Amino acid sequence: MAERALAHIEKIEWVKPIEGADNIELIGVLGWVCIAKKEEFKAGDLAVYIEIDSKCPENDKRFAFLESKHYQVKTMKLGKFKVISQGLALPLALFPELKGEGIGSDVTEKLKIIYTLEEDRKRKSNKKDSNAKYRPMAGRNKKLFSKPVIKKLMDTNWGREFLFWVFGRKSDIPKEFPNWIIKTDEERIENAPFYLQSTETWIKTEKLDGTSCTYAVEKVGKNDYEFLVCSRNMVQSEKNKENTQELTIYWELAEKYGIEKILSGFIKEKGYKRIVLQGEGIGNIQGNPYKLDKNDLYIFNFIVDGIRWGTIEMAGFCKQHGLKHVPIVEENCLLPKTMEEMKLEADGYSMVNTKVKREGLVYRSLDGRQSFKNVSREYLLKHS
Ligand code: ATP
Ligand code: MN
Repeated sequence: MAERALAHIEKIEWVKPIEGADNIELIGVLGWVCIAKKEEFKAGDLAVYIEIDSKCPENDKRFAFLESKHYQVKTMKLGKFKVISQGLALPLALFPELKGEGIGSDVTEKLKIIYTLEEDRKRKSNKKDSNAKYRPMAGRNKKLFSKPVIKKLMDTNWGREFLFWVFGRKSDIPKEFPNWIIKTDEERIENAPFYLQSTETWIKTEKLDGTSCTYAVEKVGKNDYEFLVCSRNMVQSEKNKENTQELTIYWELAEKYGIEKILSGFIKEKGYKRIVLQGEGIGNIQGNPYKLDKNDLYIFNFIVDGIRWGTIEMAGFCKQHGLKHVPIVEENCLLPKTMEEMKLEADGYSMVNTKVKREGLVYRSLDGRQSFKNVSREYLLKHS
């Protein structure tokens, strides 16, 4: 999976005045709506569009006007004018270094745009955690590895490698994320407004705000099966949190539901080669928006030999095996015709805890092939 394009070149779709506002107007970029300086754009102009969750570089004068906002691009509500603005559009002409780039080009790296949250940068980056392989040996030899000499050695490249040569195990080296497991991800409706023209029926589930958990079983030999636990980007070979007896949320939820047993039973019985179960781990994560006492897992994907099952079939599998699935909000629905109606539909209460607002909805075609997310603006305003 490519990393998210936080900044891209797009065309201004439309420009609309805001009642009572003298200096700003509303513009549409893809399916996004944001404010711009009056007369900065007309429909058809090209712009650099920077998505919410972004942070712009402080040392680039073109972003100096964002200083009071700490260079961050967020969902904003202009209460006075009753508008919500998401993202930032700047005239392409301000960026001569992007000459030659066309509509849709990802210019995130060129402009040095990053995620605002350090946590997002880590969680969503495809780069490896280069210290991961040293942690298990330190965990096995706690006393030794707390000695100053050893700590000093661990601060150098050759020292770490030497200690690994003595104390490391092959199994300590993190496994590559298997290329046959598709990383969980959902396209945003604002970046894919063409879906509004769809005449198909869709199934809506609640989008839960937690952490993506992937469990897989692969047949690796005649009677040999391998169980894998992964976070969004990494194989979680280590069951425990760093230097503790506490399980990581990925393993905790695997054990809570006996997922290895469920998946290996199913794959053996049916004679499949690779099955993948993916869900959202919620609870003590992301600030516990659902106010749960215990962590819990809600499945959203079940992929059997490369084919993702439809949501109803996936839910059937979950029921049969004592697993929970993401709440189904509506089963056979047509999509709203306008982006504004679409956005309003995302707002609402969670079915996991009906006292709190939901993060949004995920829409799937009945066969499970097409899919997108519709994140509630109300939720974003509250949570960022
Ligand atoms: P970014 O916001 O940068 O795009 P992200 O990982 O935070 O990245 P999300 O906005 O959380 O992306 O949307 C995609 C994720 O939503 C999936 O990876 C999955 O973990 C999670 N998710 C929660 N509920 C559902 C659901 N009902 N159906 C599918 N995915 C879901
Ligand atoms: Mn998420």
